[in-house]
Amino acid sequence: MPHQKSWAEPWKIKMVEHLRMTTQEEREAAIKEAGYNTFLLKSDDVYIDLLTDSGTNAMSDRQWAGLMMGDESYAGSRNFYHLEKTVQDYYSYKYFIPTHQGRGAEHMLSQILIKDGDYIPGNMYFTTTRLHQELAGGTFVDVIIDEAHDTESEHPFKGNVDLKKLENLIDKVGADKIPYVCIATAVNMAGGQPISLGNLKALRELTQKHGIPIVHDMTRVAENAWFIKMREEGYLRKSVKDIVYEICSLTDHATMSAKKDPLVNIGGFMATNDEDVYRNAQNMVVVYEGLHTYGGMAGRDMEALAIGITESVQDDHMRSRIGQTLYLGNKLADAGIPIVKPIGSHGVFIDAKKFLPHLTQDVFPAQTLAAEIYVQNGIRTMERGIISAGRNKETGDHNRPNLELVRVTLPRRVYTQAHMDVVVESIIDVFERRESIKGLQFTYEPEYLRFFQARFEPIS
Ligand SMILES: *Cc1c(COP(=O)(O)O)cnc(C)c1O
Repeated sequence: MPHQKSWAEPWKIKMVEHLRMTTQEEREAAIKEAGYNTFLLKSDDVYIDLLTDSGTNAMSDRQWAGLMMGDESYAGSRNFYHLEKTVQDYYSYKYFIPTHQGRGAEHMLSQILIKDGDYIPGNMYFTTTRLHQELAGGTFVDVIIDEAHDTESEHPFKGNVDLKKLENLIDKVGADKIPYVCIATAVNMAGGQPISLGNLKALRELTQKHGIPIVHDMTRVAENAWFIKMREEGYLRKSVKDIVYEICSLTDHATMSAKKDPLVNIGGFMATNDEDVYRNAQNMVVVYEGLHTYGGMAGRDMEALAIGITESVQDDHMRSRIGQTLYLGNKLADAGIPIVKPIGSHGVFIDAKKFLPHLTQDVFPAQTLAAEIYVQNGIRTMERGIISAGRNKETGDHNRPNLELVRVTLPRRVYTQAHMDVVVESIIDVFERRESIKGLQFTYEPEYLRFFQARFEPIS
């Protein structure tokens, strides 16, 4: 590798996609029509789309070539075997079941492992993950360290599990009521914060003592591995690839949304080391996803995914991936924008409570801020706060998370440093007029995962 201090990308651009610029009037009309929910905007009305890193990746020329190698046989496609072997070789798991995306895997695993009245501890929740646990009769229990809920804390591994919290839960409900502990790598809802290998090993020891397996939400495992390499003692000389393998091998089952780390636009899988769970999942996959050798994916998509996995664990790739996130985050922080620190893996999380201190959580500060950032310059971000947290299953009240955030998420290999500069300028412009910003109220609230389709209007 050439000597370089900067995070410059280890690739060059071969094809471009044009973006549409809009006027302020057009954007005001568009956000109104979208019910002030950035999920409901048309992408044609968006200039720089930082809604999500999910399925928004740019594929490499090799992946595109892989598409041409698609074997679209109904059963036993060669791309399935290539992908299966890649998952075994890179992620250590013995058994592999493809799914249409991550939530398909979550659905199957939750239904297989959870019984009515069970508790599922996790290092914070993810929206679809928790919902599938609840639909299977379980109750999610947050066992992440307290620092994860504190936007000021600079803890290097805010994704760590608080083992004391977990032990307390085991004492209270008994290990037989805990079918598994769910561990996310690069915890999305905490701001893309990593778990350390030290913590994972200690967790492994504790759970093994009680016979509790670990489910790995491995959606951003390679990004987590980069932080371990940079921050955890003894790992600087290890490759991302080796660290990824080590993380996976400390867990029993896994769900993957291939739309994130593995650099494709659609796909996912479930993986496990447990033959019984595997047999069960093979029974379920044919009902809900597709035959066990495609699980809702085309052969060509499985090929692109197999290649994407190998690219996702390259050190050079990850240096520029996380480098871009740090570049954006540091520029925003330097301008005095309140963000979650340390800066996470896949995006920068703006603290909407601090950005808009005059708004109470009941008027949805993060939802409001995401709408304002769009109107400013056509940049699309999303809410991660009280709207995403949904309502309490029993009481029907809003869940009230400490974190009220706007996620500025970076698609992989898509935007340039100049785009990042425009994003920073636009958010500063909103910051300068923050005092005039008022909140929102619901005009429509869906029952499930309300953040996707809810509609709002400005409070008059
Ligand atoms: C995206 C995501 C999922 C769900 O995956 P989909 O592919 O969107 O169904 C689960 N867990 C985490 C942490 C995610 O980011």
